Amino acid sequence: MPLDPKRTVTDLKELRELTGDENGAQRVAWTETWEQARDWLRRKLSETTTIETVDAAGNQWFTVPGQTKRAVLIGGHIDSVPNGGWLDGALNLAAGVEVLRRVAADGKPPVTLRLVNWADEEGARFGRSLFGSSAAAGSMSDQDELRQLTDREGVPLPDALAAHGVDLDKALDAQKELESAAAYLELHIEQGPVLESLGLSLGVVQGTFGVERHRITWHGQAAHAGSTPMDKRRDALAGAAKLALEIRGIARRTGGGAVCTSGGVVCHPGIVTSVVETAEQLLDQRDLSPHRLAAMLAEAKASCERFAGEENIEVNWERIWSIEPILFDDTLLGFCEEATLEVARASHRLPSGPLHDAAEVARAGVPTVMMFVQSLRGLSHTKLEDTREEHLEQSVTALDLLTRKTIDWVADGGGR
Ligand SMILES: [Zn+2]
Repeated sequence: MPLDPKRTVTDLKELRELTGDENGAQRVAWTETWEQARDWLRRKLSETTTIETVDAAGNQWFTVPGQTKRAVLIGGHIDSVPNGGWLDGALNLAAGVEVLRRVAADGKPPVTLRLVNWADEEGARFGRSLFGSSAAAGSMSDQDELRQLTDREGVPLPDALAAHGVDLDKALDAQKELESAAAYLELHIEQGPVLESLGLSLGVVQGTFGVERHRITWHGQAAHAGSTPMDKRRDALAGAAKLALEIRGIARRTGGGAVCTSGGVVCHPGIVTSVVETAEQLLDQRDLSPHRLAAMLAEAKASCERFAGEENIEVNWERIWSIEPILFDDTLLGFCEEATLEVARASHRLPSGPLHDAAEVARAGVPTVMMFVQSLRGLSHTKLEDTREEHLEQSVTALDLLTRKTIDWVADGGGR
């Protein structure tokens, strides 16, 4: 059966009809609509020789058995954020379905090919993203915290999982799914404006950014807004304000796509008649190089010390969360580049700002690569998320080419 990329676009529109409304996609993990979407995926592959299994973390696997158990994996996630887009996570699966149809119809492949629908990539209901892939990767180490999580209605996470046949205590058993994994491929919409601005349809993803996330607390002195002369003030907000502007220069000087964001400042007492006593500022810094990321953090800290001196205030740092950059596999990057060149006659390597399931799989030691397809206006996690149909079709063809190259490589002893 020849590959039919147009069918992928039709499939995606069908999924949008089935699981979306006028506000966008509603496939939030651990809900009825999510189950409907999983059932839809099951039906899409029911006419092939594919075997379906669901692992201990709720990940849905579709397997085309090959001449060896060593497997090439294609991954995606059918879950969305509330009022999400039609392509985020779903394109990967719909394109994967088309590749599996082609491979299954061609007879037994030399190595096994598996499509995985990761459970709860978005973390929209409980605030914990990459649930299924972190369980399979063995990096899920926060089960005690997960047990305490509740959704907005107060439903505990373990209960919501149990309603969908998943026992949180056994989720890490999903690790055995990756034992036979030789390579992992993930196609995804870019969710940013870079490819569109370069006039390119497809991109090769080098890896996912490392992240340093900190809470910075500035301490000054509350004082009357009327009686305190300007030169006698110890204004905590002044430190936060200076840093908010300084990080633009830090990111620009770092270059290479580095980004810094001050996503919020909370002031106390926060009234119109007082100088700010404390300002709690959030800082998020991301880069693909661990050294550059560390240097950006050091530069932000040094700037804070300087601003604290200038404003006669104090500053404290507290790390909220961090993750190291995750670089994808060199050989697979090469295959991905060949595939995008063949299909789109151009190629571009770029980092991924958002985290993806692919990062978890790569952390588990499976050679991994991601391919991005252009997002229009860089929008995602909204019903406005979109990609040109011809680009969607190109991405299916390129994923198929990448899969062919990877299967040949693994059959020749490449991969893990
Ligand atoms: Zn996604």
